[in-house]
Amino acid sequence: MSIRKVHALVCGYEVSDKGALTLNKDVGKKIKIPYYSWLIEDPNHTILVDTAVSVRWKELHPKPLADAYPPHLDYEERLDVLLGMLGFKTQDIDIVINTHLHYDHCGNNEMFPKARFLVNEAELKHARRPGWWDEGGYVKALFDTAHLKYKAISNNYRVCPGISIFPTIGHTLGHQSVVVRLEKTGLLVLVGDAIYLRENIETPILPGIYWNAEEYAKSLTKLIRLAKVNKATLLFSHSSEYLTPRGWRILKSGIQSFA
Ligand SMILES: [Zn+2]
Repeated sequence: MSIRKVHALVCGYEVSDKGALTLNKDVGKKIKIPYYSWLIEDPNHTILVDTAVSVRWKELHPKPLADAYPPHLDYEERLDVLLGMLGFKTQDIDIVINTHLHYDHCGNNEMFPKARFLVNEAELKHARRPGWWDEGGYVKALFDTAHLKYKAISNNYRVCPGISIFPTIGHTLGHQSVVVRLEKTGLLVLVGDAIYLRENIETPILPGIYWNAEEYAKSLTKLIRLAKVNKATLLFSHSSEYLTPRGWRILKSGIQSFA
């Protein structure tokens, strides 16, 4: 039996305002934030967690979004090219988990028509009809296409032995994180946007983008507790810094694998 692995794939970056990541602090300061997609190689499934920013963003992103946050994406940072480097075709992916449906987490969903998409029920419903206050983060053309098969889930969901999804709401109303049990690393948690930066934990400080601050704080606390009590490693969607039981580490550029 092959062993389970998680591969961190860096799919380009955008330049953001740091105030969006650390509420009321460093507003106006520009910060480069990477986009990540995670490939889980399991003996029975080939799973992607988030599909990063669209390779077709110039066509699909509305102009205000494209002008404000133009993605920087080289050919070798395309999700399909990175999967190819690991020996996978897009058709090999049988499950995609979206932590939430912001444009930079479901951008390449269209590449995986053979996959079953596991998305939180409330998130899917809201992303299809967002409010005027948060519609800027959702781009329907990226995820709401007829050829994709969504399975709306709620609460805790076991994908298969060793891989589970659990709610970490607050950033959005249906945000979820993924926990993977690995032989050497132990528990690995893909937190999505439930935490942006080391600073959110250490200061602590909320990010500048959230649906509900109180729920965000609860989810952040839950994840820190999971890291401490269960010696879990936490990987974030927009930071190359990650938290291990032995302290903070930095992800390599390109592909880094955990077993
Ligand atoms: Zn987000």
